[in-house]
This record gives sequence, C-alpha cells and structure tokens, in this order.
Amino acid sequence: MTRFYRKTMQLSIRVGDWGWVFGWRAGLGVLYWRSQVPPEVMGIPGWVQLAERTVVMHRKILHLDLDAFFCAVEELRDPSLGGKPFAVGGRPDQRGVVASCSYAARRFGVRSAMAMAKAVRLCPELVVVSSHFGDYRDASRQAMTRVHNMTPLVEQISIDEAFLDVSDLPESGEALARRLQKAVNDELGLPCSLGVATNKLVAKIANNVGKSSVETDMPPNSIKVVPPGQEAVFLAPLPVRELWGVGPKTAERLEGIGIHTIGELARWPQADLVERFGKHGHDLARRAGGIDDRPVETGYEIKSISHEITFATDVSDGTALRRTLRQLSERVGRRLRRKGLGGITVKMKLRWADFTTLTRQATLDHATDLDSEICAAAEQLFDKTWPRGKKVRLLGVGVSRFAVCAYQLALWGDGDTEHDRRLQKTLDSLRERFGDEAVRRGSQLKPGNTD
Ligand SMILES: [Mg+2]
Repeated sequence: MTRFYRKTMQLSIRVGDWGWVFGWRAGLGVLYWRSQVPPEVMGIPGWVQLAERTVVMHRKILHLDLDAFFCAVEELRDPSLGGKPFAVGGRPDQRGVVASCSYAARRFGVRSAMAMAKAVRLCPELVVVSSHFGDYRDASRQAMTRVHNMTPLVEQISIDEAFLDVSDLPESGEALARRLQKAVNDELGLPCSLGVATNKLVAKIANNVGKSSVETDMPPNSIKVVPPGQEAVFLAPLPVRELWGVGPKTAERLEGIGIHTIGELARWPQADLVERFGKHGHDLARRAGGIDDRPVETGYEIKSISHEITFATDVSDGTALRRTLRQLSERVGRRLRRKGLGGITVKMKLRWADFTTLTRQATLDHATDLDSEICAAAEQLFDKTWPRGKKVRLLGVGVSRFAVCAYQLALWGDGDTEHDRRLQKTLDSLRERFGDEAVRRGSQLKPGNTD
C-alpha cells in the first residue's frame, strides 16, 4: 500500500453553513481549494481559521489506455468497420506487421506486432487497413487534453497511455475514472479503459486485468479499481509475468524455482531473492507486495529519436543501403530540429536475413541535429559492420544523449557548419511543403535515378 504523510497549512473561511479551505501543500507549493470543508474544521467556531494539520493520505493514481487505439480511430473514419475483424498495419505481401487489431480480430488469435501474413492465415476474413498516423496523433492530442483538463499531474507514456495523479481531487478515484471515460467516449467517440489504485504499478496491472476480463467483439471500455490496502491481495493470484520488471528471462528463472504467481513471489524469503537476483531481488519483493513509490513524472523526457525500415525484400546493394541510411538520418535530423534537440550518440541498427540484429553506436565530440553529421557517423558504423554483398532485412538510425548543439554554443560557428545549417533550414521548409521525396541533395542522386 502506498501511503504518504503530508503537512498542510490550511486557511479555512466559514460563512454560515458554507466554508472554503485554502491549503498550502508543503514541498510542492500548490495552492488548492476545496468547497467541501472537513467537519473538524467546520466544527471550529469563528470565521477564519489558520491551522496546520498532518494528513495521512493514500495516493490516487489512474492509468488510462485507449482501447485498440488505431483501430478505434479507423472506425471513426469508416464506421462500416465496426465489430468486424480488422487490423491496421502493413500489407501481408510486403512483410507488413500488425500495428493494432480490432477486438473481433483478437478472437482469432491476431495480436499486435504479429506478421500480417500470419494474421491473415489465422483470420482469413481479416480486413487490412493501412495506417493514418496524422489522424492518430490528432486523436491522441485531443484525448490527452481531456486528461490534462482533470489534473496537470500527467505522465504520458505512449501515444495512447497515461498515468494521472489525482490525489488532490476530492472525488473518489472511481468517480474520476468514470468522468474521464465519459468525456473521452462522448466527446471523441473513442473507447478507453482505466485502472485505479494507490500507485502506478497496481493501476496499470488493474487496467490490464479489467480489460482482459471483458470477452466480446467490442472494445472493453472497462474500469477496474483496487481499493487502498487491497494491492497485495489483488496481485496474489496473477502470473509473475504481469509484474513490471519481470521479463521472459526473469519469469523463467522464477518459474524454475517454483514461483508462478505474484502471491508466491511475495511469500518467498526476500533474502533468497536478493541472493539469486542481486539488487533486483529487493525490487521484486516490494513489487510483489504491491509497493511502488514512483511518482507520476510530469516532465516526461524523450530519451532517443530513431527511425528504421524493414525492406519489402532483402537488400544487398551497397548504394541502395547507403541511400536508405541517408533518408533515415534525414528523418531523425528533422525530428531533432523540430524538437530543438541535438544528440551526442549516433546508433545504427542492422538486421540480417536470418533475423540476427546488431546495433552499433558512435559518440561524437559534440551534440548535433545535422543530417550530414548523423549520416556520416551512421555510414561509418555501417561500413565497419556490413560485409559487402550480405543481405540486409532492416536498417535503422537513431540519436540519443541529448545536449545543447555545438552551433548554439559557438557564437559565430565555423563557416561549413553555418552553411550546412542554412541549407538544412531551406531543405526542411521545402520538405514541409512538398513532402519527403521532393528535395534531394546532389550526393543522393545516382545516375539514371529519378526518385
Ligand atoms: Mg491502448
């Protein structure tokens, strides 16, 4: 159970039967008000009262997840998809992957991240819909606006998922979850599920459990509440794999010593877990007991920016591969510039035809957001790793370890960088207007190539 103690300074004003409490929360400095004045304050005679109270509180955390999000947006575009087995993603004959699948499709065993070809084998009447990312981004933004209308304490963890800390709101966690669900359902036409608990770990698992308990062809649109004090009891019967931080490897090792459920893990001597798993053993024991003190992190930071591509057929031509590296570097560069970020580490990812995957990284001596610098580093890594003629299935480029870009530090910048930056800006604005393929640098064109 997650409890916290909080010293509050409260100024209460009472006029007849009406009263207001203004509280100053120590540490956070948030001014809040409540129209429901606690009885112990209402009982105090006098109009104005300044009191310091120490309050024991449970946190109230919501986990929101939009149900089969991409599919739900596609249903808004084309209502005839409603209730049908369909999947959003790449075409099965081009090694497409399922990005999202409707609940009707899930009944056939179709899952996201599955090869589309396999999905079609499992469900021959599956309708394959290509993705419309612009629409998903817009819908996500609108849903997150509803979330932020409830509280500023929001940690968005993906395009369709967020944690909310609603400890300061007077209503119950369940009432707040209902209110938020109704807003998303009614105003946006999107189904969503919520988990309610005293911490992030249990709220997220509660949501998973709530969703999977609904078995129809329609989105679950569920709400699952775990009351304060019931965390460990709720988790006990669930498989250890449900626990955050337990990947397939840890789960296998736990099952090897006879631990299958979270309850069994909670009962296992902690000293033994530490002996077997090191520091991680402590975390396992705490989480199994439903304890998680992690705050809702409002300043969610992007840690890396990357792009990758799986080729429709394996590629062994060096020129084509280098051209792809350049295109990927450009996309990464553009996203960095749009966000005002520069990165010091450049990563290159390669997957061979047999699915073996390698990543190689290089550290620059300065942060960059320039396509040319990102690409030069990626190409060097590629040249060191790729045996000429070897077939490549997937290629990726990424940048991480963000810092201030070198040109932002140098007052004048050296001539080359300055020139590159200006060229970059012009290219960005042209691509913004005419699309990715509209402009290419001369170095990217090969004789006879018109793309
Ligand atoms: Mg979702």
